[in-house]
Amino acid sequence: MFERLANPKAFLTMVSLDCRKLFFPSSFYTFLFIVASQFSLHVGAAFADTIVTSTRIWPASEYTRLTLESATSISYSLSLLKNPHRVVLDLENVTLTSEIQRLPGKIGFDYPYIRALRIGRFKPGILRIVLDLKTEVLPQAFVLKPVANYGHRLVLDVYPVSPPDPLMALLNEDAMKSAQANAHANIKSDVKAKDNATSNTKGNLETIRLITIAIDPGHGGEDPGAMSRRGTYEKNITLAIARKLKAKIDAEPNMRAALTRDGDYFMSLPMRLDKARKLNADLFVSIHADAFVKPHARGSSVFALSERGATSAAARWLAKKENDADLIGGVNLDIKDHYLKKTLLDLSLTATINDSLKLAREVLSEIGEINQLHKNYVEQAGFAVLKSPDIPSILVETAFISNPDEEKRLRNSAYQDKMAKAMLVGIKRYLAKNPPLSPRSKMVRLE
Ligand SMILES: [Zn+2]
Repeated sequence: MFERLANPKAFLTMVSLDCRKLFFPSSFYTFLFIVASQFSLHVGAAFADTIVTSTRIWPASEYTRLTLESATSISYSLSLLKNPHRVVLDLENVTLTSEIQRLPGKIGFDYPYIRALRIGRFKPGILRIVLDLKTEVLPQAFVLKPVANYGHRLVLDVYPVSPPDPLMALLNEDAMKSAQANAHANIKSDVKAKDNATSNTKGNLETIRLITIAIDPGHGGEDPGAMSRRGTYEKNITLAIARKLKAKIDAEPNMRAALTRDGDYFMSLPMRLDKARKLNADLFVSIHADAFVKPHARGSSVFALSERGATSAAARWLAKKENDADLIGGVNLDIKDHYLKKTLLDLSLTATINDSLKLAREVLSEIGEINQLHKNYVEQAGFAVLKSPDIPSILVETAFISNPDEEKRLRNSAYQDKMAKAMLVGIKRYLAKNPPLSPRSKMVRLE
């Protein structure tokens, strides 16, 4: 202001602008009145109770999440009661609105951990939410600051006391049993086809090397991923393609697949890595369908991890966006640390990255047969989800959900199938050229 006044020409301009403001039409004053009344309402609201604008429940075998979203942060206290098992969440100065009253009706009979939800005024100023449980749980509550399209969130995560073992779940699958049966029948031809590959199985046809592939459908639950203008969510597309890829892999005689998430719920990036590690996965394939600010951006890409910076600005931008998934989905930082310690220990990634690049090239060349490629080479960047120290890992951007043509195809089941097939063929070609020789714990003795 002082600088402007020091310049007489600027001062004159200001004066003339001020004069013009005196002659606004009456609609301007009506507008002023509305703004002023809104402001006074807002000031009044600051002293009123918090209004929960949205409630969401995400049930899954890993854990169940309850989210309360509001314009201001909610103060809460959490307690766990036994005989019978209950979780109690007390909310301070929260209005009992119809949105909250709808919560009990959202609990399904098939929910793994929560039997029922009750709400009531515990005492003045305290709204109490009680979860009646099916089993003993470990609850965690935490608040998240506004991010992306979300306001303040209070999150309650309910974990089972003994978490499901993904490897046991995989072993129990019917698909696994039939895969084994097929493997037994095809074992001779299989070994012949890979005579330079499975040297450790030669002379011992009772034992085959079963390849486990962790398929990672990007995003989920609170984190929808990219959204198209028509309202298509990346998280649904990635799960659809991942399920198709799993079915194809399970139908192969010596391969089996597990999904890092098989439903609409949020999985943090470290949890995804942890699951792949528990599965003793040979390969990790993360599936995405992202958006770009420009709707004409199109084409498929395949990425591998880079420890030393990205191969292009676009790859760096995308890695940052994917890594932000945990901010949007909402991570309890204590849990995140716990997983990071486990998975990122003793990180020596060079050999794994080389294998990841080979896998990425095979998959990229197959996808190039069914879709235009964004770039016809594999890109690298610091994707957090690709950081398993000993599992070759790739991230496939199947297409751009922000591009109307590609979005239409991504929603099409036949096209999703084609995409899954291309990934399978790429994976198989990689395995034929680079058979995993180390036995790990994946040797399966057949009857
Ligand atoms: Zn994504």
